[in-house]
Amino acid sequence: MRVHAYAAPAAAEPLAPTVIERRDVGPGDVLIRIEYAGICHSDIHTVNGDWGKQPFPLVPGHEIVGIVTEVGADVTRHRVGDRVGVGCMVNSCGECANCRNGDEQYCLEGQVPTYAGVDRDGTITQGGYSTHVVVDAGFVLSVPEGIDPAAATPLLCAGITTYSPLRRWGAGPGKKVAVVGLGGLGHLAVKIAHAMGAEVTVLSQSLKKREDGLRLGADDYHATADPGTFKELAGRFDLIINTVSAVIDVDAYLRLLTVDGTMVNVGAPGQKLSLNVFSLINSRRNYAGSMIGGIAETQEMLDFCAGHGIGSDVEVIAAEKINEAYERVLASDVRYRFVIDAATFG
Ligand code: NAP
Ligand code: ZN
Repeated sequence: MRVHAYAAPAAAEPLAPTVIERRDVGPGDVLIRIEYAGICHSDIHTVNGDWGKQPFPLVPGHEIVGIVTEVGADVTRHRVGDRVGVGCMVNSCGECANCRNGDEQYCLEGQVPTYAGVDRDGTITQGGYSTHVVVDAGFVLSVPEGIDPAAATPLLCAGITTYSPLRRWGAGPGKKVAVVGLGGLGHLAVKIAHAMGAEVTVLSQSLKKREDGLRLGADDYHATADPGTFKELAGRFDLIINTVSAVIDVDAYLRLLTVDGTMVNVGAPGQKLSLNVFSLINSRRNYAGSMIGGIAETQEMLDFCAGHGIGSDVEVIAAEKINEAYERVLASDVRYRFVIDAATFG
């Protein structure tokens, strides 16, 4: 099946309209007519070469919501007409210890990313900036009724990436959680941590989004450009979720943790982050990382968000505005996720 899409022709080049081939619907597959595709900063890192060499031309997009238009003979979990979502991965071995444990994202054979990955049939995966996609039914999520489909789209990456560490590290009543960076991931981290009952503080470069932060559910808001912030908040937080797409001074943030507190890095800049081990040793602190979440956990997150009325704050754009949106994300000028209307791909 030939479908319209937007692709980056080469590293750091603007995206342009193209036509790509989607595989035939196999017995275990679902064909989805895409409604919306989110723009994640990871798309920009990938296209810009921050994460190394990529297979170009490359169609990004790993936040996908749409309607099932065909299912393979063996598919029972989705039906034609269902609203579904696809996130950052479209396959895994299903047999290793991590897959069996529900951590498909950490598949020991390597999970298959939604784009720029090698699928199990040997083809290169192409992502959601497109009108249709064919995906193994086991990696297709049900989008609960009651969430606006555009607002649900960023949950497929930004939502699960923040929900998973918040759950794992016990965000809830009595816990003080800081979210570093109020962008796509950060604004959902604030909403979700607030819904879990935690006391939430935003640490943003400046105070210019303070009102938004408080509206999203934060109890407190500080500017990291102000050195006084780091003195005032020393030893304060049980959990810090770092969503920043660039290099930060890790030590300065670690010093904001309580004894036994944990900072989880979900931000993934291309350059190395470094730290002084004494920032950990001095207060028995933990520094961790986390990548998206498993498939069952992603469904749990979607159901949690539907139950708490959580969707992303989105700016819906036409495909021809993708390159402009990339520039705005790079300038931290996003409120708080760009979502592409797939009807405009061609
Ligand atoms: P985003 O919307 O651009 O948000 C990042 C935020 O970081 C910005 O809004 C800004 O917040 C802050 N920031 C940007 N540059 C900064 C700098 N130089 N110094 C300090 N703060 C800065 O990006 P996103 O889509 O949320 O993604 C964030 C990061 O997470 C990316 O690196 C992405 O690749 C990664 N990611 C990881 C996973 C995973 O599984 N671990 C999944 C998805 C994305 P303020 O304006 O509030 O300061
Ligand atoms: Zn993403």
